[in-house]
Amino acid sequence: MEYDVIVVGAGPAGSTTARECSLRGLSVLMLDREEFPRDKPCGGGVNVRTAQLLPFELGDVAERTIRELQVSVRAGYSYVRRSDEPLTYMTQRRRLDAYLAEQAIRSGVTFRERAALREVEMDRRGVTVRAGTEGFRARVLVGADGANGKTARLAGIPVERSLGIALEGNIELPPAREARWRERFAVDVGSSPGGYGWLFPKGDHVNIGVGGNWPVGPSLRSRLARLTHYYGFSPDELWGVNGHPLPVFRQGSAVEKENAVLVGDAAGFVDPLTGEGIYSAVKSGQIAARHLAAYVSGAQSDLSGYAHEIERDLVPDLLVSIQLHQIFHLAPPIAAQMVKRSSRTWRLVCALLTGRIGYAGVKERSTVLARAIDLASAAGRVRVRLSTEG
Ligand SMILES: Cc1cc2nc3c(=O)[nH]c(=O)nc-3n(C[C@H](O)[C@H](O)[C@H](O)COP(=O)(O)OP(=O)(O)OC[C@H]3O[C@@H](n4cnc5c(N)ncnc54)[C@H](O)[C@@H]3O)c2cc1C
Repeated sequence: MEYDVIVVGAGPAGSTTARECSLRGLSVLMLDREEFPRDKPCGGGVNVRTAQLLPFELGDVAERTIRELQVSVRAGYSYVRRSDEPLTYMTQRRRLDAYLAEQAIRSGVTFRERAALREVEMDRRGVTVRAGTEGFRARVLVGADGANGKTARLAGIPVERSLGIALEGNIELPPAREARWRERFAVDVGSSPGGYGWLFPKGDHVNIGVGGNWPVGPSLRSRLARLTHYYGFSPDELWGVNGHPLPVFRQGSAVEKENAVLVGDAAGFVDPLTGEGIYSAVKSGQIAARHLAAYVSGAQSDLSGYAHEIERDLVPDLLVSIQLHQIFHLAPPIAAQMVKRSSRTWRLVCALLTGRIGYAGVKERSTVLARAIDLASAAGRVRVRLSTEG
């Protein structure tokens, strides 16, 4: 059978693209090398902005609803900020991804597990894919195979991205400590170059992690142990400790070629400031599905419209997020103080998490603010250059 679309990867980007293509009447095959439910190294935080993109409720996959943020500086001094509205839902990727894949299957997608992509042959009429021991054919190919995926390379799409890295693990949450983390998540700033540490509470355990610029990789284990200790748990009790790259988009990087597109982490769409990528995975999947449907039906002659819409609707936020990341890492303790002392700054954090404003919208608020962000981020870039050269 020849499909309209083959989607490689069944994370949030792949399941969303597959589901939305199928709902538009396309025949879709979704492949994943793993058997579901499977885990993926991730904090599993789905902020309200992301949840609002989905046309269905998260239901009990959202194990906690977060209204409080605890901020600590270099695993020392800390404070808590509370919001009246939900900010983020806490999920486990094992459950979230199985749920999203289930939604895709219900909409008519054929899902093949334990089918690792091995070869891609593109021709004018479509694409032939070898995965596992089988061959499949379709009009178009979607690379949704994450930060370590092969689709981009095999389809000849020249992706450029820089890499961060993060390590996370889980630890049981004793009932006596449950009240503290019922509605609260924590971030620790200033102790990991280019990143931060976190504690994300789930139903019966907490997820603790730390991420940063690529060179911090070898020190992440000891950083994770220190942070776990700081939050009052024993590092010896951590289970499921896993590391994974965080791919950050470079302006001008390709996201499509001929009859193939990339979505989510495969395209490098992680939010540079927070390391969150589920929002962009879902958003890029939705944009891709619209263009794939128009292409397959003959309403569009190529897939360049996907790149243009990504450039218009996603890239501006990613570029401002890069700038805010540069500013934040000039002096993380000062940023932490601003969130503590300024109600305006806290309201802005809440507005970003709930989607009332996007990063690009922060700069659009005033030309003075936009100029200040440009200047401060330039200072951040110079500082990074000096520290890497020195
Ligand atoms: C430690 C850590 C913590 C994070 N915490 C958060 C968070 O709290 N919130 C948030 O929003 N983001 C977070 N992120 C980022 C988030 O995990 C990713 O951005 C998100 O998973 C991207 O979704 P995706 O569908 O593009 O890729 P993935 O979720 O990586 O899915 C890719 C899929 O492709 C499959 N695959 C790979 N290779 C092949 C192949 N050759 N053949 C077939 N299938 C293949 C994989 O099995 C996988 O199922 C975190 C990242 C890390 C590393």
